[in-house]
Amino acid sequence: MRKLAGERIVIATHNKGKLEEFRALLKPHGVEVVSAGDLGLAEPAETETSFAGNARIKAQAAMRASGRVAIADDSGLCVEALDGAPGVYTADWAGPDRDWNLAMRLVEEKLQARHATTPEKRRAYFACTLCVAWPDGGERIYEGLAQGTLAWPPRGQLGHGYDPMFVPDGETRTFAELAPEEKNMISHRAKALDKLLRDLL
Ligand code: IMP
Repeated sequence: MRKLAGERIVIATHNKGKLEEFRALLKPHGVEVVSAGDLGLAEPAETETSFAGNARIKAQAAMRASGRVAIADDSGLCVEALDGAPGVYTADWAGPDRDWNLAMRLVEEKLQARHATTPEKRRAYFACTLCVAWPDGGERIYEGLAQGTLAWPPRGQLGHGYDPMFVPDGETRTFAELAPEEKNMISHRAKALDKLLRDLL
């Protein structure tokens, strides 16, 4: 049986927002984490066209470089009216400077170009695929989704990435207006991690 308890896990990310979410979600389970960024590991190129493919690349790279169990997250925003874009290219839409205001504006421009002005036409979901890689070659994949609609203009100062324009179903506030504890109850990352923890703890 593959387990996590007692392992010092590497989170294969250089994204501080994601790392803080992982830390908060794993802490109650006594799982200690360190990030690939903190260890100074190189970021591999995400050359696959699926979330799972890119999560595998990142988990494998961090596991090999650190010699520890690694968990990678590949996630993104999939907008119905844009045929699932930006999807695996969600981070790329923020440009080389990772400008999330630019990325959100790009989404909004494309929605306007398609006359997506009502909530029903502005449906989107965040997807998160997690890959766990063990030094002995074992590997597991878990997925979580958060469904919602896209608001404009962006609202809220919390969270990261596209949070200010995403209103999860059952809420009137955006992800960036929710306290981290609230987002962590319902997010795509929380759902995927919940599956992982039920399987591995
Ligand atoms: P990745 O680092 O290649 O997985 O890129 C995924 C991108 O999707 C991130 O950089 C964020 O911009 C966006 N993203 C993923 N999860 C979230 C979230 O919980 N809130 C806001 N944006 C997110």
